[in-house]
Amino acid sequence: MLINPDCIELLHQDGIRNTHPATPLPGAAKRMDHQPDTLPDHFVTQGLFDLQINGFAGVDYNDPEALPEHIEASMLAMLATGVTRCLPTVITADFAWQSRCFATLESARNGFPVANAMIAGYHLEGPFMSPEPGYCGCHPAEFMRPGDIDYFERLQACANGQIRLVTVAPERPGVLDLIPLLIRRGVTVAIGHSAADHETIARAVDAGASVSTHLGNGVASPLAKGDNVILSQLANDSLTASFIADGVHLRRHVLGIYLRAKTPERTVLVTDGTAGSGGKPGTYTLGKMKIERQQQPIVYLPGTTSLAGSATTLDECVRNVISWYGIPMDMAVGWAGASARLLIGLPSEPASGEAVEWVWWKNTRQGPYVEQVQLHNTRIGTMSMA
Ligand SMILES: [Zn+2]
Repeated sequence: MLINPDCIELLHQDGIRNTHPATPLPGAAKRMDHQPDTLPDHFVTQGLFDLQINGFAGVDYNDPEALPEHIEASMLAMLATGVTRCLPTVITADFAWQSRCFATLESARNGFPVANAMIAGYHLEGPFMSPEPGYCGCHPAEFMRPGDIDYFERLQACANGQIRLVTVAPERPGVLDLIPLLIRRGVTVAIGHSAADHETIARAVDAGASVSTHLGNGVASPLAKGDNVILSQLANDSLTASFIADGVHLRRHVLGIYLRAKTPERTVLVTDGTAGSGGKPGTYTLGKMKIERQQQPIVYLPGTTSLAGSATTLDECVRNVISWYGIPMDMAVGWAGASARLLIGLPSEPASGEAVEWVWWKNTRQGPYVEQVQLHNTRIGTMSMA
């Protein structure tokens, strides 16, 4: 929903928690013309929501030694990109490592205001996924495990019950049995890093899986043309797919085809960002791995062209889908916000009178750029404009 900024009550310098709910202009909630040059010069939307973010601004959420105050600073940097809430994502590692990552993230969430407001839970991506080459992506295959509810419950205890999304490979032993156990615990289940055949994808959906994690990535390059894990998920209308719209994880024409298959109702944008996001080119970590952020917002394993997460930002992904496919602004923001919230059982936007999550945008020739963000009583100006 695009809202004319004139309809928002003037905020005090120090910010206020109980901002008067904006009253949209008549018709403002209607879809606006999709061409960016017909957007207002300035407008406001709800905050963005990233379901998959492994780190930001030099801070690695998969590093158990990360300092909570550094996690807080990274959240503030992420906030400047328009993301008001997120699921920090812990990738495959041994139990001790993963549990310590969650404990560190919880120290930040419980000890610092911006982390507390922004961390809406966690995404557990592994270890119940495929160890096969290609399908495991950059995850360490030696730590992949069969489905194991006890393992999950012990991790969930370390995360104080905050794991809201788990990505699994349904063809792995025990995972089809694990899925309904996770659903019963209020956890959303996604399929990813999976080599499942068509029948197994269907069984996972029957068991309760509802999301495809970064569809089109975490697969081997040679795929059977008639029965492969991408086609089966594209074809299944019970699955909402997340996509990394950086032009690298999926080439533009490929993502364009996938968007047509999933339709706007079943599309979510995520970054899969890393410590290299919002930072300079150079070497960072993703758990125990070294990763290299390029000049472009691309992250490789050192000396290779193997992707290891991304360094794109969610506002960039919004601009990309608008620019590449003419997606209307309100729809693109919905894919990067309301649709993500709904997937993990949150309301599509904060209820009227609740703590505010607003993003002020400025329209430019290069598309809409974030100008300011208000999250609860924190209001900040943002990163450089195009
Ligand atoms: Zn992944």
